[in-house]
Amino acid sequence: MKIYNFSAGPACLPHEVLLQAQQELVSYGQSGMSVMEMSHRSADYEAIHAKAQADLRELLAIPDNYHVLFVQGGASMQFSMVPINLMTNHRRAYYLKTGAFAKKAISEAKKVGEVIVPASSEDKTFSYIPDTTADMFAQPADYVHITHNNTIYGTRFTKLPDTNGLPLVTDMSSSILSEVIDVRDYGLIYAGAQKNIGPAGLTIVIIRDDLIGKAPEGTSSMLDYSIYAQNDSMFNTPPTYGIYIAGLVFAYLLKNGGLPAMQARNEKKAALLYDYLDSSSLFKPTANKKDRSMMNVTFVTGDTELDKKFIAECKAFGIVNIKGHRSVGGMRASIYNAMPVQGIETLIDVMKEFEKKA
Ligand SMILES: *Cc1c(COP(=O)(O)O)cnc(C)c1O
Repeated sequence: MKIYNFSAGPACLPHEVLLQAQQELVSYGQSGMSVMEMSHRSADYEAIHAKAQADLRELLAIPDNYHVLFVQGGASMQFSMVPINLMTNHRRAYYLKTGAFAKKAISEAKKVGEVIVPASSEDKTFSYIPDTTADMFAQPADYVHITHNNTIYGTRFTKLPDTNGLPLVTDMSSSILSEVIDVRDYGLIYAGAQKNIGPAGLTIVIIRDDLIGKAPEGTSSMLDYSIYAQNDSMFNTPPTYGIYIAGLVFAYLLKNGGLPAMQARNEKKAALLYDYLDSSSLFKPTANKKDRSMMNVTFVTGDTELDKKFIAECKAFGIVNIKGHRSVGGMRASIYNAMPVQGIETLIDVMKEFEKKA
């Protein structure tokens, strides 16, 4: 049976990429060794590293005045690295509280400096994106932080806040490469790889040059963006295999029309599912309509026993990992780039059948 993996992360990868990795697993090219076994200083690996970077730059049209860094420690380490490196002039930053990961980012930033939270959607279980205006960011501060897509609650920023000139920093872990963005809107973008890029263990940081080199003296090298920038992310051994797989995904995306094509496909996929949910008398989407995520679709029946029954029934049709996050319950269908349209069609068929019987 074909399995459709709706996991929020680590998540499904393009089948073609997995097949290529399988083919090259034991011997990469003429090297006679696996990428896992290669020195990170070897010519073969350096080419993999450089191409992954170049392809990511091409995909996102990253301007020359931005660095691409390969870091470890997940998006969670960026919750610390961002304030350690950037909250260094005014020692103050704004954070929009739109979900569980935003809360974690806030709690780490508070260890470094002053955090102002001008807007939150916690009053309604983070089911919407709060409105902001430029005057909310009037105090001198080092940056404004947002979570571009809220993986757990199924919301996203469809319009970026007017930060009153402050650099915008975003956690893009669950939406990077899903749609066309303008990198110039941001001072810094970070994303753990395991949602829409590749294996866990690799984190992408895209940082504008003027934001590099601001870490206070005495900052640990491994927490300092400038060390990564100066050493082409090879100050120590980078997560070589993760970078290799990410590189295969980048090449695959470029070959298949890049981000405009991904965006069109993702819009179509999300619309299929939301249209069904809007028409269903049993299943209800939980996110505010205008703030709906294209990547994580959250919904409930309103009856926790029925939710459980539905999740169990899905397994028989190859639909797995559709259970909502433990903090919100219900269901969550994560439909990243690698989820095929047929996966969503199958899910809708199963929902329709379940609705008939309920
Ligand atoms: C998954 C996720 C995280 C946590 O990522 P780790 O790599 O596990 O640290 C942070 N932010 C968002 C938006 C996520 O989706």
